[in-house]
Amino acid sequence: MLEVEQKGAIAALEDRRWDTCFLTDAEASIGAYRQAIAEAAEGVIRQFASQKQPYSGATPIELVAGLTGTEICPQNPQLLGDILKNVGENAIAHSVVVTHPRCIAHLHCPPLIPALAAEVLISATNQSMDSWDQSPAATVLEQQLIHWLCGEFGYDAAGDGIFTSGGTQSNLMGMLLARDRHAKQELNWSIQQQGLPPQAHQWRILCSDVAHFTIRQSCALLGLGEKAVIPVETDENYRLSPDAVRLKLAELQEQGLTAIAIVATVGTTDFGSIDPLVPLKEIAQENGLWLHVDAAYGGALVMSDRYRPQLAGIECADSITVDFHKLFYQPISCGAFLLKDQSNFDLMKLHADYLNPETNEAEGIPDLVTKSIQTTRRFDALKLWISLQTLGREKFGEMIESTIDLAAAVAQMIRADSQLELATIPTLNAVVFRYSSGNSKQDNWINSQIRLTLLQHGEVVLAQTCIAGNTYLKFTLLNPRTTLADIRIIFDRVKQVGKQLSLSLQK
Ligand SMILES: *Cc1c(COP(=O)(O)O)cnc(C)c1O
Repeated sequence: MLEVEQKGAIAALEDRRWDTCFLTDAEASIGAYRQAIAEAAEGVIRQFASQKQPYSGATPIELVAGLTGTEICPQNPQLLGDILKNVGENAIAHSVVVTHPRCIAHLHCPPLIPALAAEVLISATNQSMDSWDQSPAATVLEQQLIHWLCGEFGYDAAGDGIFTSGGTQSNLMGMLLARDRHAKQELNWSIQQQGLPPQAHQWRILCSDVAHFTIRQSCALLGLGEKAVIPVETDENYRLSPDAVRLKLAELQEQGLTAIAIVATVGTTDFGSIDPLVPLKEIAQENGLWLHVDAAYGGALVMSDRYRPQLAGIECADSITVDFHKLFYQPISCGAFLLKDQSNFDLMKLHADYLNPETNEAEGIPDLVTKSIQTTRRFDALKLWISLQTLGREKFGEMIESTIDLAAAVAQMIRADSQLELATIPTLNAVVFRYSSGNSKQDNWINSQIRLTLLQHGEVVLAQTCIAGNTYLKFTLLNPRTTLADIRIIFDRVKQVGKQLSLSLQK
């Protein structure tokens, strides 16, 4: 019996039928890989890059119909070329065309070509960043890039960090370490070991009332509750007011509550506003608070000589969130969490015998899992590394600056137009405005219908937001290929559609 089983096993070892399924040194495998990648790239060019509009305009019902009828897991193999054709026609062709100059809704960027090439390397090599024996060179490369980033943000040799899936994860890490350090320092309590101490329900985190919702989400996930987040009012430019922060701190103290952290935002999602970092770091230092800077959006200003001074003070932050799948033009997902004092990573360090045994650490072998809340993790650092080198600092900076300049010019256009109303002067490249019909009672409905109509026609993909109960429209001008001519076309259509909607209400 045993002998027969062994013979079967050996035969399987010599079996070549998987050669075209996996990439190996076999000729058939390499041929299949080349063809698959070439066909995929052709599909992208035909079904995506060549689109004349930012969206096909397909309705949810049409999209469901297009994808219904495809047998998801057929009994027998199908040709990849046929599948790519079907997926191309029914899914890829109905993508929002993030590369189109009139796709300007969200912090959702067109990805750089060198980063797309990097994705080919990342996926084929499939390194996993959790342990050294799954990603030796990738671990070194990521750490070198992290150290470069730490330097760019003004951290010294004590700084460290980790690539993350984006701002959500980086903000969660910032709140986690702020919470755990407070417990350790003030109560000699390990939350990692003991869970939340009884005092935890009194802990408060201050941030601006336009900070990202993931600060609240993080605090909810961390057992502090959304109510632990104290939104502090902003000034007319949507920046956190240091005086208001001081007032709130005094109020909290009177109520017997304990502030543990301040979150400053560099680039709020709707307005691009930048909180005043220098006074906030002073307040944090005076009060022994953790300062977390959410620079998911605005962190990219480090690449611009002209705008970098706006980040002054960020080097004092205990932790920083930065996203690369926004103003660094990387394919999703790509972000980082930076930490001023790397010893704080010890607060979350875990050992798994199978992954990062303590003997590794003794040997000086880095297992990045100790700094991450993910286990299996993509080698996303590679695409930023390749992009930075391909473009170079000057061109990278110019690319970002051109979008900020465009936003300033667009704001001027809005102010000069009596049918449009600007919410605030843009700081980065988000522009918030509304169509004004002359009858303010109907403007909320009209503005939300303008956005929907232009999306349904596939003409423009823009966003909407709400300020003090009023509906506004938003451009997030990340794409350096968007021009004033594109914006003029958009405004013409916004006004035409707005007028039609307004007339329809009069009937
Ligand atoms: C986008 C954004 C986030 C969330 O980041 P993800 O990468 O989407 O997870 C957090 N904060 C700010 C200010 C952002 O703009």
